[in-house]
Amino acid sequence: MNGELEEVVGENFLKPIVDVRHSDLEDVSEDSEYKKECPVCGQGMLVCSRDQMTMELKEIDRCVVCAQRFRYLDIDEMRKNDWVDYNP
Ligand SMILES: [Zn+2]
Repeated sequence: MNGELEEVVGENFLKPIVDVRHSDLEDVSEDSEYKKECPVCGQGMLVCSRDQMTMELKEIDRCVVCAQRFRYLDIDEMRKNDWVDYNP
C-alpha cells in the first residue's frame, strides 16, 4: 500500500449515493464479470455484494477503497443474467 492509496481510503464514506450502470463501468480483469473499477477513486473496485439470505445481487454497492456507495440502475438486468449461470 502506497501513500497515495491511503489518502483515499474511506474518504467517500459519507458521500451521497452515486447512480451508475454496472455495464458502463470498467472491468477490473477479464475473469471477473462482476468486479468493476471504482469510477470515483480509480483505485478501488466494486465487488457486487450479495444479500446473505437470498444470495441476490445488491442494488447498493460500496467501493472497497474509498467507500463511495453506488446504486446500480441496471440491477434488474444484472440479476436476470446472474440467475442464468446460478447453480446452487
Ligand atoms: Zn473508490
